[in-house]
Amino acid sequence: MTDTARPAPLGPGAAVLAFDVGGTDTKSAMVDVSGQVLGLRRTPTARDDADPARAIAESFAELARALRDDHPEIEVAAAGVSVPGLVDEVRGLGLFASNLGWRDAPIRDLAERALGLPVAFGHDVRAAGDAEHRLGAARGHDDAVVLAIGTGIASSMLIGGQPYSGGGYAGEFGHSLADPRGERCPCGAIGCLETIASAGAIARRYREASGREAAGARVVLDAAEAGDPLAQRIWGAAIEALAEGIARLVATLAPEAVVIGGGLSQAGPALFEPLGERIDELLSFHRRPVLRRAELGDDAGLLGTALAARDLAAARTAAP
Ligand SMILES: [Zn+2]
Repeated sequence: MTDTARPAPLGPGAAVLAFDVGGTDTKSAMVDVSGQVLGLRRTPTARDDADPARAIAESFAELARALRDDHPEIEVAAAGVSVPGLVDEVRGLGLFASNLGWRDAPIRDLAERALGLPVAFGHDVRAAGDAEHRLGAARGHDDAVVLAIGTGIASSMLIGGQPYSGGGYAGEFGHSLADPRGERCPCGAIGCLETIASAGAIARRYREASGREAAGARVVLDAAEAGDPLAQRIWGAAIEALAEGIARLVATLAPEAVVIGGGLSQAGPALFEPLGERIDELLSFHRRPVLRRAELGDDAGLLGTALAARDLAAARTAAP
């Protein structure tokens, strides 16, 4: 169990618990009424092949107990839970998560029972996008796309100030077609964007083509900047595929802002400058979005989850 650095406060509101479940780690924290994030920690995500959803819910109860023991003076009003995969936020179901093993699991109900609190249940990437919209790089833009580019490529969309989930199926930008003659993606389709342009794909393609080690996309970028033509080709192909994908998004949704987070965004200007130039070249009459780097980093999902819990607490207080 490791404590991580404390992120920026959320401002005043209800005290809540937040759980951001990832494929490997779960982040948990308490947020107090002033908006301070307390006890943020990362623990291995609970696993049980026989009943994965129940195992997760039981782990929430345990994490909640530790947080409450550390802050007995704080009266918590609600909890937020975000999970990866396909999520039905309306019915509170985890429909599918390839690396966590559940199908149509009633995670919201299980979490409410385990925690004894009302639970705001949602999707991890949409939670992160919501946090970027309310507190971070998409602030002030009601039509925005937030991309998370790391091992894969996920996205969340905000349309008219409202998150758009498409019944849990929206935002699979990484699994949109980028190359009809490309590689088969683990999802089963051919030539998905994330087989070319995710940080994971950039490193993997370089390893396969060069026979050299490359732990991450950073290694490929460094090699490209040092003049390695193979690294330049793979990095360039990723930029081109991303630019084409984003240009299609821009033509379809006309976002005011495109925000990019995740591991690849750490490349900074080496990513954002050529990407912005190429998107500009591809557009004509379209509304040109601002292209921004995400501001909230790794904790965006947890912060968005806490915000959702506060929304739920506020709605319950307001209800007659
Ligand atoms: Zn795919």
